Amino acid sequence: MRAVLAILAFVLLLSACATTPEGRSQVQLVPDTQLNAMGLAAFQQMKEDDKLSVVPAKAAYAQCIVDALVPELDPQWRTLPWEAQAFAVATPNAFALPGGKVGINTGLLRVATTQDQLAAVIGHEIGHVVYRHAGERISQQQLAGAGMGLIEAYAGRRASPQQVQLVMAALGAGAQVGVLLPYSRQHETEADRAGQRLMARAGFDPAAAVTLWRNMLAATDSEGRPPQFLSTHPDPEARIRALEANVAELTPIYQQARNAGKRPACR
Ligand SMILES: [Zn+2]
Repeated sequence: MRAVLAILAFVLLLSACATTPEGRSQVQLVPDTQLNAMGLAAFQQMKEDDKLSVVPAKAAYAQCIVDALVPELDPQWRTLPWEAQAFAVATPNAFALPGGKVGINTGLLRVATTQDQLAAVIGHEIGHVVYRHAGERISQQQLAGAGMGLIEAYAGRRASPQQVQLVMAALGAGAQVGVLLPYSRQHETEADRAGQRLMARAGFDPAAAVTLWRNMLAATDSEGRPPQFLSTHPDPEARIRALEANVAELTPIYQQARNAGKRPACR
């Protein structure tokens, strides 16, 4: 039985490799279509959850930013039904789910105080989507024995609340469900790079990503603790330095976008 499982795992690995936009190979056991369906289901559940109230005016603000960023993505990502929502949650946090669903907590707007800073956060989250990081995390969990049945149970709507929580956490929707799986440093670096490039191409100032993280570092919650975002996005000092180092290279791309008439005016 063990040998059969080992062979099965090996075959799955062979058949489930993908590469990121930068060419790093990944294990992806869940097809995009299924991942997108899971993202959609999680988003739907969040919108229906009566513990969360949606804030239409702030949703329109986030949607405006998403609409400016998405045309700069590769065609396979551009054509997803992108949708942004804002939730009345004080914790500064944001997420983007496979399938093109973006959420921000209104508390994020205390930290991301300009459209360019908000574009830095949303660009970063969209970076996680185009690098298929959620799929990679779920695949890693499956390999770690968290259970293939999880995905099937969820897809069949026979999942326990605990299973749903685990899936939502893997998808990055954790702040709302109280569980958060930290992204690896590699995932964070990839999302930072992708997000900052994306914002520059859309006409948002790439230097705002640096300001945003400085604000994030200085922020505290109502009990004086650093925001939860920092615990899932490790080593803020190092990432501020890395984002700062990219600004010189991205500024011409930003200026080119502005000259081409890409001047987002979201508020
Ligand atoms: Zn991240």
